[in-house]
Amino acid sequence: MKILDGKTLSEKILKQISETVQSISARPPRLDMIIVGNDFASEKYVMMKEKKAKEVGFDGAIHRLARDCAESEILQKISELNSYDLVDGFMVQLPIPGNHDSRKLIDTISVEKDVDGLTSTSLGRVFKGQEGFAPATAVGVMKLFAEYEIGIKGARVVIIGASDIIGLPLLGLMQLQGATVTIANEFTKDLSEITSQADIVVSAVGQPKLIKSKYIKLGAVVIDVGISKDPLTGKLSGDVDFEDVSNVAAYITPVPGGVGPMTVACLLENTLSAWKLKTQVS
Ligand code: NAD
Repeated sequence: MKILDGKTLSEKILKQISETVQSISARPPRLDMIIVGNDFASEKYVMMKEKKAKEVGFDGAIHRLARDCAESEILQKISELNSYDLVDGFMVQLPIPGNHDSRKLIDTISVEKDVDGLTSTSLGRVFKGQEGFAPATAVGVMKLFAEYEIGIKGARVVIIGASDIIGLPLLGLMQLQGATVTIANEFTKDLSEITSQADIVVSAVGQPKLIKSKYIKLGAVVIDVGISKDPLTGKLSGDVDFEDVSNVAAYITPVPGGVGPMTVACLLENTLSAWKLKTQVS
C-alpha cells in the first residue's frame, strides 16, 4: 500500500507559486474571503487559507459579516469585491449560516474572480472542459492522480458524495478524462456492493470511518476527502477507516495530510491564474 502524500505535493505547488510571485515586478495576486458568522470549522479553514496565502506572498483581506446579517449585506459585499479591481479572486466560505439561498448568493460572484469554482457557470465549464476555475478540492484530487501516475482513462470510479464543491466537479473532471463514473449519495442502496467493483473510490461524505475494507476492491485507489470529528475518540477523522482499508488498497490518502492541504494549494493556484489572466502575464 502506498500513501498519496498530499502534504508534500501541496508544498511543492506552494513553492512554485511563491517563486512566481517573487519573480514578478507587478503587484502581487490578491485573494479576499468573505465569512459570515463565526462557525468554528469555517474560521479554521479561512485562517489556514489566509496563512498560506500570506506565505506565498499574496495580498488579501477577510471580510466578516455577522451571523444574522441581511442577505442584502452579503450581496453588497460580493458586488463590492466584483468591482474592486485590485482583487483577483475571492470566495465566500461555506456553509453560509441562516436561511440564505447560498446558490443565489454564490452565483452573483463574477466568474473571472470565482477562484473557488462554485458558481453555476464555473461548474458548467468544468463539465464541458472549458477555460475556467474548478473547485480546489476536485482539482487537488486530480493532481494527486497525475503526480502518482494513476490512470483515469477507462477506470471504474465511484465518488461518494454529490456536492457542488467536491463530488459533482470531480465527476465532470474525471469523465472528461475517460473514466466511467458512478456518483453515490445518501440514498444509494448497497453502497459497498457498488464501491467494491471500483478501481478508484473517492469518499466525500463527512462520516468518520464509513468506508471499511469490505467496500474496497483489492488493489484499488482510495481517496478520502471527508473531514469530521470522530465521536468515539474526539479526533479528526476521514470517511475511510484507514487501518482497515490499508490492508486492501494499493493507494490511499491519509487524513490529515492527504486531500486537505491540496485544497488550499489549488485555491491559491487558481488565484494565481486569475491574476495572470488579469495582468496578462503568462
Ligand atoms: P455535503 O454535506 O454538501 O455533501 C455530502 C454528500 O454526502 C451528499 O451528497 C450526501 O448525499 C452524501 N452522503 C451523506 N451520507 C451518505 C452516506 N451514508 N452514503 C453515501 N453518501 C452519503 O458535504 P461537502 O461539503 O461535500 O463535504 C463532504 C466532506 O468533505 C465533509 O467531511 C467536509 O468537511 C469535507 N471537505 C473536505 C475538504 C478537503 O479539503 N479535504 C474540502 C471540503 C470539504
